Amino acid sequence: MRRKKYIVNGRVQGVGFRPSVYRLAGQHGLTGSVQNTSLGVVIEVQGKEEALAGFEEKLRSNPPPLAEITRIQTDEATPEAGESGFIILESSAREQSQVLISPDSAVCPDCAREILDPEDRRYLYPFTNCTNCGPRYTITGLIPYDRQNTSMACFEMCSQCRREYSDPGDRRFHAQPNACPQCGPRLWLTDADSNRISGQDSPLEKSAFLLKQGSILAIKGLGGFHLACDAADQGAVRELRRRKHRPHKPLAVMIPDIAAAGDLAEISPLEAEILQSPSSPILAVKPVQPCPLSPDLAPDTDLLGIMLAYTPLHLVLFEHFKTLLTRQEIPALVMTSGNMSSEPISLGNREALKRLGHIADYFLLHDRDILVRCDDSVMCARGPGPAYFRRARGYTPQPVFLSRIGPCILGTGPELKNTFCLTRNDQAFVSQHIGDLQNLESYGFYRECIDHLQHVLQVNPEMVVCDLHPDYLSTRYARQESGLPVQALQHHYAHILSVMAENRFDGPCLGLALDGAGLGDDGTLWGGELLLVDNRDMTLQRLGSFELVPLPGGDLAVREPWRIAAGFIHRLGLGHSVLARDFEQGLTKEEVLLRQMIEKDINSPLSSGCGRLFDAVAALLGLVRSISYEGQGAVLLEKIQSQGQEATYDLPVHHRTGLGILDTLTLFRQILKDHINGLSPAIISRRFHLSLARGLCLWAGQAGISTGIRTIGLSGGVMQNLTLARELEAGLARRSFNVLTHRFLPPGDACVSLGQAVYGRHLARLKT
Ligand code: ZN
Ligand code: ZN
Ligand code: FE
Repeated sequence: MRRKKYIVNGRVQGVGFRPSVYRLAGQHGLTGSVQNTSLGVVIEVQGKEEALAGFEEKLRSNPPPLAEITRIQTDEATPEAGESGFIILESSAREQSQVLISPDSAVCPDCAREILDPEDRRYLYPFTNCTNCGPRYTITGLIPYDRQNTSMACFEMCSQCRREYSDPGDRRFHAQPNACPQCGPRLWLTDADSNRISGQDSPLEKSAFLLKQGSILAIKGLGGFHLACDAADQGAVRELRRRKHRPHKPLAVMIPDIAAAGDLAEISPLEAEILQSPSSPILAVKPVQPCPLSPDLAPDTDLLGIMLAYTPLHLVLFEHFKTLLTRQEIPALVMTSGNMSSEPISLGNREALKRLGHIADYFLLHDRDILVRCDDSVMCARGPGPAYFRRARGYTPQPVFLSRIGPCILGTGPELKNTFCLTRNDQAFVSQHIGDLQNLESYGFYRECIDHLQHVLQVNPEMVVCDLHPDYLSTRYARQESGLPVQALQHHYAHILSVMAENRFDGPCLGLALDGAGLGDDGTLWGGELLLVDNRDMTLQRLGSFELVPLPGGDLAVREPWRIAAGFIHRLGLGHSVLARDFEQGLTKEEVLLRQMIEKDINSPLSSGCGRLFDAVAALLGLVRSISYEGQGAVLLEKIQSQGQEATYDLPVHHRTGLGILDTLTLFRQILKDHINGLSPAIISRRFHLSLARGLCLWAGQAGISTGIRTIGLSGGVMQNLTLARELEAGLARRSFNVLTHRFLPPGDACVSLGQAVYGRHLARLKT
């Protein structure tokens, strides 16, 4: 007889782990116990040698589907005489509060069936849910996760709902938001002046009718409001864009089910799996040609963001909407965040009426409060692996598991596409997408979220890590409001530390940070960097960078990429014009002014940003002059590529002041020459993508040889470019690099807060 004790860490709580251990022990005839504790799941088993070995093998190789084991610690224990069975021990109240709140989950097939069954008591009821589905994070204000701590507290369950809730055999056993038409939340419809629209039809039936008529509706959903219109109605889509001041940025489309997705796009098995997952994100897919919906949905790209109806409300809305269509038409509704560009998504009924009154014609409202804002998540599975573009609803507050236990640190994140990160034990909780921290509304949302997440996790950070940039609101929060010891970390080291942490990689690692901008420790704007990071002793070293180019006008140059192209041409010492179609025509008046700005160094910061190189090439080729959303130049540039080209541009590396400089000026000079010679932008774009990927591989390859490091992390917003991501990953793998890419967070700035927190944990460890 032997007795063994295991402590299991990872995603092992609230995923059916204990019942599976119980069954496993039974199968091997073992006695003992299993318990959720603050250390992880603690298992003690006793029995014969072979039985114990068989149990351990199965435990490691066969965890339940939603579980993710990061570590199993094994110890010998003293056998207990007379133990007769295997039991699941109750956890203490304190330990229950450590159990995580789940992310919001899309309506499950059982609930969907009930909603569409005329005989069921929940027929067409838009707030149906059960233990396997429904709202969670967005309705929970306090822990533990009990009905009285959610926005369902004000709805008293009717006797039938209470019976379901109390029956261990029922699908709604302990389903905190359980509700029915008798006792649960209600819907109503108003016009933009809050006058209720009543009539024969239900609010959802009437809403479907108004959408089909071409109206724009604000619809209260799970994590905030959507602005909705008929996605096949060109006039309605254009009007929505006009009112929202969003001329080009892609709009997401909701469809009722996977069958409609198949009618609209080529859907791979992986894409079908992601679309139908409980997280139900927006997925960028390749629509069929010609696309049967409005051509204005995503004018800049070949992809279209689609999602399936993920709440009962949406499902019922489509039931009504479908009756208004012919059999050939695909039911599809634009569902875009209910906000003005750059403001956070609206939350309350009154707030929405005030803020969206000039955009929406009608408001579909309900009385279940949203306690936490959470935008739709956005993913894409057309690159080398599935990637997040935005991580929020359906994923937060699921943690990223780290390679070891550590103290609680707050990473306050960057300025754009902000998230923050709180760590607890071996878990890193990266917040939902907060957005651009450039106004008081977003800053308010940011502070609200930090307080809320700190509360539901029951943590008090001992240190805060912010960006090097002194003017970011996230830096201000760290330095002026947090009241904690503050450390600052350069943006691109944070990117690489983040991709290492996600992959639980500890050791020396090269890093390619291909990004927009982050203030460097030399005062220039970094963003095309080759770094060396060792997260065991926190070695942070810059091995190389792209050439520095002036951004005349600073932030204005980012919004008007022709200025960056002019910056490149100036650096090359050429007299060419970016604007004139005939380059020999000479400079325009604006360009003469711009050159004076650069020469006198007036508001012309230097940048090595990879994103700026894409901007400049897009502007040079005439694709954009100014942009209406971040990355628009790069998106257009990727779209126009013609296939069947080769990497024909040289991209040499020079060694200067101890750095390996990737000569992006020489690259730009060759592009300029091709362009002047009249080569088509489609061919130039393709050559540019391939040459850049090849140049980056050579650059990293040299560093790999000189340092002997064989692992490389890829991060930064430019990694959202699928062509570059594909070519780069393949090229580095061919050079036998172990390539680390983001798996749980976006490669853009949403991952920065994790890198900051990891850095803080290292410093905090040194202190103690
Ligand atoms: Zn359900
Ligand atoms: Zn009820
Ligand atoms: Fe970044």
